[in-house]
Amino acid sequence: MAKKKEKFSQAAMPSCPPRPVLQGQKALVTGASSGIGRAVAIALGEAGADVMVNYRGQREQAEKTAAEASRHGSRAVVFRADVSREEDVRVMFDNALAEFGRLDILVNNAGIQIDRPFDETSLEDWRKVIDVNLTGQFLCAREAVRIFKRQGVVKEVSRAAGKIICISSVHEEIPWAGHVNYAASKGGVKLLMKSVAQEVAPHRIRVNSIAPGAIRTPINEEAWKTPEAYEELLKMIPCQRIGEPAEIGRAAVWLASDDSDYVHGITLFVDGGMTLYPGFENEK
Ligand code: NAD
Repeated sequence: MAKKKEKFSQAAMPSCPPRPVLQGQKALVTGASSGIGRAVAIALGEAGADVMVNYRGQREQAEKTAAEASRHGSRAVVFRADVSREEDVRVMFDNALAEFGRLDILVNNAGIQIDRPFDETSLEDWRKVIDVNLTGQFLCAREAVRIFKRQGVVKEVSRAAGKIICISSVHEEIPWAGHVNYAASKGGVKLLMKSVAQEVAPHRIRVNSIAPGAIRTPINEEAWKTPEAYEELLKMIPCQRIGEPAEIGRAAVWLASDDSDYVHGITLFVDGGMTLYPGFENEK
């Protein structure tokens, strides 16, 4: 039987009212002026957390994120920092502590793509992607761990001393021709996350990743902007629709909350089945 295809314009968006599972917690989301970071910051705010919205260049967009994240009564502030720069990151975490007095949640989201055939990839193209996608996550996670260790567990706030959520990609698993620097950075995030998780578990610091599949954001616009591109994209998605940023937001709220307190060192794939090797579905 032929699969029923979702209409190009239709966004499948089940929605339930937010529960304040992060009431009183303080969060920092990197790269939150657009796309997934924006949706995550808003979802954390709706769940009761105060949020620092990090951005690199788009202050106005970051302020829009902050306005939405604080709609339900929590606080949201914006902060400019380039996550690939050690000093920027240090100052950003100092500011988060100055603003909020503590920090409970880091969402390591900022990321870029510079796509080239492998043999046309310059050292600069390679370094830029690794610097933001991998080194940026290292720098932010390191600051967060230092803070979480100092704070320890405060039972009234959370069962954990702190939570780190790395936004990885299905390409931490699936090789990606023409995007070698990106896939290498996300493969790196996978073992960065797992190794840090192993090391800091005794301190009650929880570390996990979310691996999005194809999500409707500016980073992959050419894959969903036209009906033809969207049709092509669906061939790789067993669930037959693109994902929405808010769906990553809901996963992040769960991973940040005590509802997932026994979940540690995993990658949660939110990908409509993209990692099920859909090309094999008709093989007998
Ligand atoms: P996006 O381009 O909307 O978001 C990336 C954000 O990172 C932007 O706000 C950008 O300003 C910020 N950023 C880039 N460099 C930065 C730096 N040096 N310092 C601080 N911020 C910086 O795209 P998105 O899809 O929302 O991507 C968010 C994350 O999700 C990325 O890590 C990306 O790899 C990952 N991801 C996205 C998809 C998808 O289908 N959209 C799939 C898998 C993984």
